[in-house]
Amino acid sequence: MASKKVETLIVGGGQAGVAMCEHLGKLGISHVALERSRIAERWRSERWDSLVANGPAWHDRFPGLEFEGFGQDDFVPKEAVAAYFERYAEMIDAPIRCGVEVTEVRKKDGARGFVVETSDGTYEANSVIAATGPFQTPVIPPVIPAEAPVTQMHSSAYRNPAQLEDGAVLVVGAGSSGVQIADELMKSGRKVYLSVGPHDRPPRSYRGRDFVWWLGVLGLWDAPAMEPGKEHVTIAVSGAEGGKTIDFRELAAQGMTLVGRTNSYSDGKVMFGTDLVANVDGGDTDHRALLDAADAYIARNGLDLPEEPSARVKRPDPDCMTNPLSELDLEKAEVKTVIWSTGFGQDYSWLKVNAFDADGKPAHQRGVSTEDGVYFLGLPWLSRRGSTFIWGVWHDAKYIADHIATRLTYAHYEGTEAEDARKAASA
Ligand SMILES: Cc1cc2nc3c(=O)[nH]c(=O)nc-3n(C[C@H](O)[C@H](O)[C@H](O)COP(=O)(O)OP(=O)(O)OC[C@H]3O[C@@H](n4cnc5c(N)ncnc54)[C@H](O)[C@@H]3O)c2cc1C
Repeated sequence: MASKKVETLIVGGGQAGVAMCEHLGKLGISHVALERSRIAERWRSERWDSLVANGPAWHDRFPGLEFEGFGQDDFVPKEAVAAYFERYAEMIDAPIRCGVEVTEVRKKDGARGFVVETSDGTYEANSVIAATGPFQTPVIPPVIPAEAPVTQMHSSAYRNPAQLEDGAVLVVGAGSSGVQIADELMKSGRKVYLSVGPHDRPPRSYRGRDFVWWLGVLGLWDAPAMEPGKEHVTIAVSGAEGGKTIDFRELAAQGMTLVGRTNSYSDGKVMFGTDLVANVDGGDTDHRALLDAADAYIARNGLDLPEEPSARVKRPDPDCMTNPLSELDLEKAEVKTVIWSTGFGQDYSWLKVNAFDADGKPAHQRGVSTEDGVYFLGLPWLSRRGSTFIWGVWHDAKYIADHIATRLTYAHYEGTEAEDARKAASA
């Protein structure tokens, strides 16, 4: 079967793929996006049932379309987020082919462009954009052996409390996923242990403005790189129940048992680090830093926003912090399930080009990789803090589309003689 030819091929039809289609379309660059499943599939089938967007509707969207049926400050449920991207793709007439998996991309021998093998035959493209997501493969650290008498699952496999066997649950990881899942399980009547690592804990809102607004006006969404030393710091924030600030002491007061990092397992017992208090305190420090920066911004700009001293009130340390558990006997504590909310890795084994560093990580600058014609989109910190977020990926896609357009002007240049001949022929 003859291969299909296209100028630019996008791998993935999530929000990144949709944004890329919009910008390439505006520039008149021929393109196709191949999605192995459905548009925005991860929002549909790889997240828990009750998930809502972490940012309000006015913020977590593309510039060209608002969420229909939601208020600007609502936190949109995940199904509606997926439907939004489907609708957006229709609106811009995005050429996304669903149900087509890309299995290999390789450089053409001695010629410009790439050969792209897919579940629906071969494509040839001059540019390839890997938009397969920041959070692709679930990462479970090798702490508890598979044969241990407890069910282990990753947060991406968790759906709802009814899915789990009766009994207590240990949730490992207190970023946005872990903390929301732990809270939901506790409210469903389960005994929950939450293993808390280093985290940032911004206020959901402060002095009448959501934290996404504060990150915007303080320039923090545009931060170009993670602060040194914060590489393993996750962010605990939630849009659940209309949006609320995560307060670990409050969760403990409601019955959750906080523990330190989950370090090892032996003889039916899980061992925790002695870092619980330091981790919760670290989150408090981050929380206060944002309040301070917000206060300074208000003062500097003379804004009339209501004071909110209650945001600085610290609850007393709960018993699980003053007498932290160093280990948990899973059987005695009737823990039947461990949910690892420990993040994701990436798998680019299909991308067989020179776009990776010595550690196998994508080598790129703002998504422009070291292999001429290959681009990455949607990765954490691709250009800034906002790069994995809905609004941020749209701007990164614009930059990459511009780069491709510029590259095309060089590719199409044929020299002065050819230009003159063409002008003469058309005169
Ligand atoms: C729990 C959770 C909550 C989040 N909440 C928010 C939020 O509220 N607001 C926000 O802005 N961001 C949020 N994010 C971050 C981000 O918006 C999402 O991760 C989003 O799904 C990333 O979109 P993407 O298009 O870059 O990647 P993905 O959504 O991962 O899309 C990649 C697509 O590529 C497809 N694909 C992969 N490999 C191939 C292949 N070989 N061939 C063809 N297709 C392939 C996949 O099927 C997938 O559909 C959240 C992330 C998580 C994990």
